[in-house]
Amino acid sequence: MIARQWRQGLVWGAVGLVVAVAGSAWIARAELAAQRDSFDTAARIAHRLLSQRAVEHEAILGTLALLQPAGDDGGAAVQRLIALYPQLLRVERRARGGHWPQAAWNDAEARSSASSPPRAVLASADPAQGRFVILRAGEPASFAMEIDLARMVPWADWPIAAEPRERTVRATLQLGTQAWPLHGASAPTEGPWPLAASKALAADSQAFELRIESALGLAALPWGRMAAWIAFVAALTALALAVQRQREARRRAEQLRRLDQVARLGTLGEIGAGLAHELNQPLAALMASTQAAKRLLDDEPPDLATVRDAVAHATAQARRAADVVQRLRRSIEPGADNAVASLQPVRLDLALRNALELMEPELRRLGVVLEPNPAALPALEVRADPVGLDQVLHNLLANALQALERSSGERMLTLALARDGTRARLDLRDNGPGIAPEALPHLFEPFYTTREGGLGLGLSLSLSLAERFGGTLSAKPVAPRGAEFSLALPLATAA
Ligand code: ADP
Repeated sequence: MIARQWRQGLVWGAVGLVVAVAGSAWIARAELAAQRDSFDTAARIAHRLLSQRAVEHEAILGTLALLQPAGDDGGAAVQRLIALYPQLLRVERRARGGHWPQAAWNDAEARSSASSPPRAVLASADPAQGRFVILRAGEPASFAMEIDLARMVPWADWPIAAEPRERTVRATLQLGTQAWPLHGASAPTEGPWPLAASKALAADSQAFELRIESALGLAALPWGRMAAWIAFVAALTALALAVQRQREARRRAEQLRRLDQVARLGTLGEIGAGLAHELNQPLAALMASTQAAKRLLDDEPPDLATVRDAVAHATAQARRAADVVQRLRRSIEPGADNAVASLQPVRLDLALRNALELMEPELRRLGVVLEPNPAALPALEVRADPVGLDQVLHNLLANALQALERSSGERMLTLALARDGTRARLDLRDNGPGIAPEALPHLFEPFYTTREGGLGLGLSLSLSLAERFGGTLSAKPVAPRGAEFSLALPLATAA
């Protein structure tokens, strides 16, 4: 019914929603994973570039310690070196017996010469200025180099855009608790999907930890693609729903057509039965009187004994004719003999639901309120011919709707289905105009109708069908207004 259509819509809607959400989540996940990958790759490249620089610094110090440039010439060589490497701020040389500008460097020299050959070590670091000094012990002189962090970064090759638009990336070099901001935002980046990579540079003297942090925000999600997917799923769901509704409408039309066909066949039978009923009495009377009249007119003087015989004979003939008509009537009644053979267990509740479903567009058009929900009716199996039972239910419902159509106000159709001894009893009550007292005794007679354009055969056919199933069909008026039709059929288990 109407609830059923809602339910279908809801089910399709829910399925569509799940598919849309799952698909969007998958698209978003794939996009986030791709962005995470590209972040990791950029972080690896940045780490490699800085590590190369750090190793280069160690190599320069090693070269200085080996070549020992000294005197004026040495000074010029060092100046050339500084010009070559922009990150070199200055080179300090301490010959034996000389002094380092800072006391801490003495310590560093001791650490450097502790290994053989001496290795480059970190002598001091100035986080505020972004500078640090590495030192290497040598003979006869030791060397120290001050390096500018900002110029140490090979910006031309730097894999992370300096002014990122979509995400803020913060890169820092950490040594213990000290941190040099290399690049990007000073505030920590925030977002629902944080990204982070950290790794120490691959040079012992400059084992700063390169830390790159970022976060993907809602703006990083592929909204366009997700919206396209959702629109696609919505269109598909709507299409599926439309196809299903269309298929149901077609099925309903097909069943109605079949019922109509059966009804027409039944109607023919009822017409035959009605004609036979109407003809039976007049034919018999006519035959009797013509026979008698003929004899009386032909004989002069009338032979009363013969007339009596003839009349008796005519009566017998007429009775025989009436019998023929009677037999004809019996043979016309649809499936009089084979109906019993086609009786089988049928779920009355399901047959009723099916009939209601067929009339759903009409119920909806008239705004009929069904009480209770047909799905709540008990499951009862009766013995009947399924097609005939459909016909009876269809007739009763069609009559109720025709009655309801003639009444204004709230239109109610009340269903009651219950076991009644060895029978199942179905009461269909409508709050239409009801049945006039003078009409009540004639409702089930063939050709009785109060409806303009009505044939008056629906109820008589329904009654003969119900009786053929071993059941009954009755009608009664309902106060304050309306009619109730009760169909009682033997339960299948009672057979
Ligand atoms: P038709 O519907 O062609 O008139 P039916 O045999 O189905 O033939 O019905 C016979 C008559 O019974 C109807 O014309 C109508 O007067 C009366 N009738 C049937 N059902 C109802 C009902 N639910 N409420 C009031 N009258 C009804």
